Amino acid sequence: MRRIPYCNQMTHHILLTIDVEDWFQVENFKPWIPFESWDSRELRVEKNTHRLLDLLDDARVQKSTLSPPTSGSELPGSNTKSSESCKSCPRKPKATFFVLGWLAERLPRLVREIQARGHEVASHGYSHELSNQCSTDCLKQDLLKSKKLLEDITGDRVYGYRAPSFSISDDVLRVIAEAGYLYDSSYNSFSLHGRYGKVSINGNKKRGVAHLLSNNFYELPISNLRLGKKIFPFGGGAYFRLMPPAFFRFGVRRILNQQGAYLFYVHPWELDYEQPRVREASANFKFRHYSNLGKTHQRLERLINRFSDCRFVTCTEYLELEGGRSARQD
Ligand SMILES: [Zn+2]
Repeated sequence: MRRIPYCNQMTHHILLTIDVEDWFQVENFKPWIPFESWDSRELRVEKNTHRLLDLLDDARVQKSTLSPPTSGSELPGSNTKSSESCKSCPRKPKATFFVLGWLAERLPRLVREIQARGHEVASHGYSHELSNQCSTDCLKQDLLKSKKLLEDITGDRVYGYRAPSFSISDDVLRVIAEAGYLYDSSYNSFSLHGRYGKVSINGNKKRGVAHLLSNNFYELPISNLRLGKKIFPFGGGAYFRLMPPAFFRFGVRRILNQQGAYLFYVHPWELDYEQPRVREASANFKFRHYSNLGKTHQRLERLINRFSDCRFVTCTEYLELEGGRSARQD
């Protein structure tokens, strides 16, 4: 039986984001799986990303009130199937896929598949080095290389960037803007996770939940729940897998009521309970990485179903909705 969706109003936006990286590229396993060994590891990301793409294809959410793409539109995913431009039909939710350049180089067909299924392709950098620990030159090379790689594969402009492990800083934001991106989506305000970066974005003008940082450059933060002065992690990832689903949905509802938009993140490996185990890793890392992998698929389906009356948009679509045409100026 179909459950009654939550929000029942088109003013609430949900931004699903996927960090496309494989099981051996996560930061917590870096001490045991060095970059030099990546080529010898089993690639599982293609199959797992297809599971996410199929899940999104099978889901149905509220009709779109976005204008159908015009010919020559630069909007990522503008090559969506014609049925999706029907304003009165339920459509599948669109998402933003932040793809690691190293993977794009080896699996260009996967990048094209993401694009062909109507989603936004954005960058997760090239080699998954923490952005706030790279030199400016090194970071800029990584940002430019991954952007160009994805643009060469898709033939479309890449607008967005997500730093590995949300390793952001004010300096990193400046370099991202200089590298020609329209937005960053790496700020996670949950401060108890030691690796997440800090930025001073609060004095800036806002467009919905997006912060306008400089001329036509935005920060789209990961959503968290604010209760009084405390911030609780409700953005996705391990928190999504570890919290009871009803409690997680309660948090999402509160965020939508507080902020009007909710930005969620997940990784393809989070749907893969058969992935190789890194037995040498600490118990804490293993707990966070491997808990409830077999439940992620069903939980994500239910999350989308429960909020299916919200508007599911890509990051660039959201900026365009909130900021008008200026969001996509070249
Ligand atoms: Zn990552």
